[in-house]
Amino acid sequence: MSDDPETARQIAELAADTRPLLVLDVDDVLLEFLRVFPNFLDQQGFELKLRTFKLTGNIIDKVTREEAPVAKVREMIDDFFGNQADWQPLTEGAADALASFGDAAEIVLLTAMPHKHRDARRLHLDALGLPYPLLTTEAPKGPAVRRLRGQTDRAVAFVDDIPHNLVSVRRAVPDAHVFHMMGDDEVRALLDPLEEGMHHVASWADAAPRIAEALGIPRGN
Ligand SMILES: [Mg+2]
Repeated sequence: MSDDPETARQIAELAADTRPLLVLDVDDVLLEFLRVFPNFLDQQGFELKLRTFKLTGNIIDKVTREEAPVAKVREMIDDFFGNQADWQPLTEGAADALASFGDAAEIVLLTAMPHKHRDARRLHLDALGLPYPLLTTEAPKGPAVRRLRGQTDRAVAFVDDIPHNLVSVRRAVPDAHVFHMMGDDEVRALLDPLEEGMHHVASWADAAPRIAEALGIPRGN
């Protein structure tokens, strides 16, 4: 993302804020992904059988029972994100939880998806009542969060469902409060345990008070 001058400009602007910073992943934090992606796959003649926590190797042709080749997996993911408004509903409670923080925190959405899908995601998030700044990245998230914090030592909280993103942020911003959001215990069982100091949250009802406490912000109703 640092190679993209427009993204760099947006980060510089966001980093001038001095309020506590809340950085959120989008897929499976604000928009449903793992629960709904199988619906899309089904329409393409495939199914998802998660034996490990990744898509490649776990998407199976419903007829031949063979794994979808890497190129086909990429093509389907691309297609899904291109039409995400048709497939991805809001994660339950997400919009209300963020609204409850009011103006007490700066909220930034950091989504790991190709830049080309940014406009579709922007429109979809706006329609769902999530008008927060959106950054797309294909690079590790930690350095982006460090730059977003800016020159102050303001409190930082970060929420993601993918453990290596949590690790990346902790490496780059050691005092960040990092939350692993995952409501599906079967999927969670595929993951290694979280590092010490990382917190699991199962839902927004669970996450919102803990984020508010971590950032030292009051919550409205
Ligand atoms: Mg995600």
